[in-house]
Amino acid sequence: MSRIPRIVILGAGYGGIVTAIRLQKELNYNEADVTLVNKHDYHYITTHLHMPAAGTDNPENARVNILKLIDEFKIDFVKSTVIQIRPQEKKVILEEGTLSYDYLVVGLGGEPETFGIPGLKEHALSIRSINSVRFIREHIEYQFARYKREPNRTDYLTFIVGGAGFTGIEFVGELADRIPQLCKEFDVDPSLVKIYNIEAAPTALPGFDPELVEYAMNVLQNKGVTFKIATAIKECTPEGVSLATGEEIKAATVVWTGGVRGNHMLDEAGFETMRGRIKVDEKLRAPGHDNIYVLGDCSIVMNPEGRPYPPTAQISMQQAEVCAHNLVASIRGEQLKNFVYQSKGTVASLGRGEAIGIVGSRKIKGGWAAVMKKVIDVRYLYIIGGIPLVLKKGRF
Ligand code: FAD
Ligand code: NAD
Repeated sequence: MSRIPRIVILGAGYGGIVTAIRLQKELNYNEADVTLVNKHDYHYITTHLHMPAAGTDNPENARVNILKLIDEFKIDFVKSTVIQIRPQEKKVILEEGTLSYDYLVVGLGGEPETFGIPGLKEHALSIRSINSVRFIREHIEYQFARYKREPNRTDYLTFIVGGAGFTGIEFVGELADRIPQLCKEFDVDPSLVKIYNIEAAPTALPGFDPELVEYAMNVLQNKGVTFKIATAIKECTPEGVSLATGEEIKAATVVWTGGVRGNHMLDEAGFETMRGRIKVDEKLRAPGHDNIYVLGDCSIVMNPEGRPYPPTAQISMQQAEVCAHNLVASIRGEQLKNFVYQSKGTVASLGRGEAIGIVGSRKIKGGWAAVMKKVIDVRYLYIIGGIPLVLKKGRF
């Protein structure tokens, strides 16, 4: 084959953009044609989305123009939506046209997992993209405006967050910070506003350090969040939610943060999946497809105990480094690397000036953890866009 190999990267999230940036550094001139496809012309920083969703930050701060991150002389960028992957034909069908590939990188991210709970897809909102968080932010403000016209409707001022995993916890922290501002703006008595964080498991943040979970819950309760733990949401309706306990809560806003699954297109393409995610081999390839790499929320990597690592930005970025290396090695006929995840820890924000985390073997909480969270955010901006992006988007 004398033709230049074609690499197509689907999705410019954490996995996709870091793969593209690494490839543009590592590939020599004319060694491969690289095309990056994304449905928007910007990369969004998913790990910041709880802030613009609650309205404590501007959505602009959570997105970056893709052409500012890649070198157009080395990577072709196609703004389009992928609608189908055809592994047998080595083709990807986009809304506008078709792309053929020799190597494919799937980094299309996850989708909300609703576990078939009736009404969630139709009536709940989810924190997934710039468009979805702009909607949530506007929706929340609108409920305050509506309440002023119909003061008997306190359900307009009731906010339900379904799932107290990290996304739910980070979002209620921001929402609780936003409420006093909205109450002032709309002349609403703050005691009428209710924020419920409802969690099916016996604890918030299941699996996380119990002492830090208790700290987080205390901080959030002091800000006005009511937790309902060991209480599953059974149904969502336009009026609110029904709980497994039989209780019903009327609310005009339900934000579902109950988990993520992989992209539906992977099932449709005929890959073997678990909740829409492909269990990749040690080189990060889809089993049986040596030319298809799968990253981030679309992939499953097992830990040494045989359980899947949680889908995070951290693992997506580490996968992207190995994926880029393996693509270059394949093209050059060199040895591929195995992927070994090295967790650097977890830090979660609880709103302004408060966070919890485990870094290495150290537990951190409060203001110090909040500073650590900022350091992690800034580090990511530096990795993808260097000092200019840190200065432009870093929130100090
Ligand atoms: P994503 O980053 O989701 O990117 C997918 C990309 O594909 C997007 O650009 C999307 O527009 C594009 N796309 C999707 N479908 C199509 C299509 N059909 N056609 C074209 N393009 C498409 N993880 C951490 O490690 N630390 C954190 O602090 C953290 N905080 C989080 C906070 C929140 C509020 C949320 C929701 C998640 C957080 N996570 C965090 C998890 C982390 O954001 C995800 O695991 C990570 O974004 C997954 O990266 P990815 O590359 O798989 O996909
Ligand atoms: P998750 O799966 O981690 O948490 C979802 C929560 O919803 C679980 O606690 C689950 O028990 C609960 N739940 C499920 N069904 C329910 C029901 N019917 N009723 C009530 N509760 C229900 O999902 P997530 O929080 O969106 O996180 C997704 C991934 O992103 C995870 O890997 C997480 O670690 C990562 N993340 C990391 C950070 C961070 O590091 N700061 C922040 C956000 C997300």
